[in-house]
Amino acid sequence: MHRSDLPGAGYIGRFAPSPTGPLHAGSLVAALASWLDARAYGGKWLVRIEDVDLPRCVPGADRVILEQLEACGLVPDDLPVWQSRRDELYADALQHLLAADHVYACACSRREISLAAQSEGQELTRHAELVYPGTCRNGLKGKAARAMRVRTLNAKGHDVQIEWTDRRLGAQRQNLARAVGDFVLHRADGLWAYQMAVVVDDALQGVSHVVRGEDLSDNTPRQIHLQRLLGLPTPVYLHTPLVLGANGEKLSKQNGATPLNLRDCLAALRTAGVSLGIATEASDLNSWLTQAIVQWREKWALPVA
Ligand code: GLU
Repeated sequence: MHRSDLPGAGYIGRFAPSPTGPLHAGSLVAALASWLDARAYGGKWLVRIEDVDLPRCVPGADRVILEQLEACGLVPDDLPVWQSRRDELYADALQHLLAADHVYACACSRREISLAAQSEGQELTRHAELVYPGTCRNGLKGKAARAMRVRTLNAKGHDVQIEWTDRRLGAQRQNLARAVGDFVLHRADGLWAYQMAVVVDDALQGVSHVVRGEDLSDNTPRQIHLQRLLGLPTPVYLHTPLVLGANGEKLSKQNGATPLNLRDCLAALRTAGVSLGIATEASDLNSWLTQAIVQWREKWALPVA
């Protein structure tokens, strides 16, 4: 077998927190899982601060997150990158997509989208995003451009369907046009959408394996669609089980997650390990991490490329 056929050869993984607050029990699971996977397969582990949505970011939270990771023994193999400093790279990718007519300008306000979607019979539910009804797909009709959207109908006018395999969830499929519709890459407020930044950065950083929380799994087809339009490779994905708050929803600051206690990182890692099926008796941080790598390898074997 050639070295490049071995799982892990050329492996680059990443943890990509949004600095909206310090790490808590839920975000530590994603950090730990991505670190364990990279370590288990002899790969590199990167940290990327996803601060494109500046209004949601909390000043200083990036530093706190990096300190928390370090205190838990999760140290990146390269300097972290900040998405807010990478505007030009996203603008470049948008130009490529524009030149190939994969994206178009959209003039619709939220209210207009909501009215048009309701008149199509779509229901407004609390968490679900509306499927964009395609109002500006064939031109702005004299209105001013607000956002840029990517098409989810192919050149023949057929719905784009994405099929992919997740290492934990198995075979997945989504009809992008019906489930999501043409989605925003550049927002009306001038900010880049998460989908755009994540796809460009995963590719430019050479990320081969994405390990992140299951709440993000329904974004994956949008990201694969963009990767294909931009001619970029698709990483291998693993979406980890979510840590739920007392109300049964994903644990977040809004539903009571408390910041990680830096005085007892080992306890925090143990708790994070439980959601990943990892339990070791080790009584110091480094031995816990070393034993966790072994257990991870047994549990989450990588598919051979
Ligand atoms: N920045 C995203 C978050 O904190 C994670 C993005 C990703 O891992 O793709 O939820």
